[in-house]
Amino acid sequence: MMIICGHHQKVGYQENGEGAYDLAFLPRGKRMAGTGSFSEILDGENNVYKYYSEGEWRKSVSGKSVAIVNPTTRKTQYKVQACSQAEVNKVMEAAKIAQKAWAKTPLWKRAELLHKAAAILKEHKHPIAECLVKEIAKPAKDSVTEVVRSGDLISYCAEEGVRILGQGTFLVSDSFPGNERTKYCLASKVPLGVVLAIPPFNYPVNLAVSKIAPALIAGNSIVLKPPTQGAVSCLHMVHCFHLAGFPKSLINCVTGKGSEIGDFLTMHPGVNCISFTGGDTGISISKKAGMIPLQMELGGKDACIVLEDADLDLAAANIVKGGLSYSGQRCTAVKIVLVMESVADALMEKVNAKVAKLTVGPPEEDCDITPVVSESSANFIEGLVMDAKEKGATFCQTYKREGNLIWPLLLDNVRADMRIAWEEPFGPVLPVIRIGSVEEGINHCNASNFGLQGCVFTKDINKAMIISDAMETGTVQINSAPARGPDHFPFQGLKDSGIGSQGITNSINMMVKVKSTVINLPTASYTMG
Ligand code: NAP
Repeated sequence: MMIICGHHQKVGYQENGEGAYDLAFLPRGKRMAGTGSFSEILDGENNVYKYYSEGEWRKSVSGKSVAIVNPTTRKTQYKVQACSQAEVNKVMEAAKIAQKAWAKTPLWKRAELLHKAAAILKEHKHPIAECLVKEIAKPAKDSVTEVVRSGDLISYCAEEGVRILGQGTFLVSDSFPGNERTKYCLASKVPLGVVLAIPPFNYPVNLAVSKIAPALIAGNSIVLKPPTQGAVSCLHMVHCFHLAGFPKSLINCVTGKGSEIGDFLTMHPGVNCISFTGGDTGISISKKAGMIPLQMELGGKDACIVLEDADLDLAAANIVKGGLSYSGQRCTAVKIVLVMESVADALMEKVNAKVAKLTVGPPEEDCDITPVVSESSANFIEGLVMDAKEKGATFCQTYKREGNLIWPLLLDNVRADMRIAWEEPFGPVLPVIRIGSVEEGINHCNASNFGLQGCVFTKDINKAMIISDAMETGTVQINSAPARGPDHFPFQGLKDSGIGSQGITNSINMMVKVKSTVINLPTASYTMG
């Protein structure tokens, strides 16, 4: 077993014969994944979770399954169906038919069902959080937060949808030169059709519902392809929509490795929109996809610029939380610190003091730093660390790794020739570059191929605004670490960080098209004053 953070006690979990942890020792009300209301989603005979098609939980005719390895134990925790191409075809056909009927369902009814799904999801936060802990090693408390936040997102989306989708535009023709008022244009919003949703492993539930809820309120149907790590959490979440009573085939969930069924899904002629969150895979999808709207939220290398007049305690707290929460596996994690040389020593002292207090260990015990998602991910992170070591970076802590667990590490005096200066580690390793001028910091930030978020710490709002304008990123946070939420804020990346904008309102608007109906009058009509 791994080293566990000091004062924590291991409770409630016992390793079973196959290396997975069972929950026999948890209190009754907390024994949950695949049991009780969720028993129907598990093929108990083969211990493989089913996929969801035509309103039913099904076993794949492929007879094959995909193993989900627990990042902490590095042993198989769950298995899901490896869906076949024929099954994908069937799902697409059924989703297309279901969408036509759903588009005729009144907005208020769509919203009502979404509110119901949100309540059921929140009610089942513990079993779903349990899956997140096991599949992606997210700390237990954060796992519960992810599910609750997802319920809130669904409800907000329902409310926002009934307002913005209930409004269109009314235009008269005589504002354009040469026209009399003989045409009235009624522009309304209509659904796109079948939306393919592909979330990443790090927020499988939240980033699935951030696609599902806008799609549904806008009158679309959904085909969800969950990430392999996170698939079982997603299947539980989908079951909450099933329990809410959505029409059959409106929501579908096919499982299987992205590398095996991904291309078939993204290039499928039945798909009318793709909403994808993940890494570079998104770039290749956007090259292969047909002429359909794309929403791509991809990687980031979010810079944190610290000026001489910054509140260094505030900056240090945000660097540690922003850079190392969920072991740095967040798209908006602080991924490079650019600090003015004159305050660098003072800042690093504060940051390192906070890093020393982080707990390291398994997610069940709510440790701050938990194992990264896979062995290949841990190897990749190690590669970046070794490259920085060879090229002379200063190690603020000793590099330490056990299995997929990597201890938090700050690398000071990083230079532009090191890979870590540019690449996204997606792990608890944070590089620091000391800069001589603000321009140097902005230049580094803008030379990146990413452009997700950035942040600046200063007490001078005028300087902050100038820096915000200069940073080529979708969002700049002033005096706080980058963050995706609150979920109704617009959220977007420039360059390789994405296409389009998310946030509840923007996602709803992205999942509709504008339809105009023009009334032509025989004679010009003017309002008589
Ligand atoms: P990933 O490897 O790109 O995978 C994302 C999703 O794509 C998974 O569901 C994956 O399924 C699927 N996939 C893989 N190959 C595919 C293919 N050929 N066609 C279609 N789908 C395919 O990313 P990840 O490792 O899960 O997540 C980490 C990355 O996501 C980081 O780069 C992070 O910055 C980014 N991210 C961005 C945001 C944002 O909003 N900007 C938010 C969170 C994360 P399998 O799991 O089955 O391979």
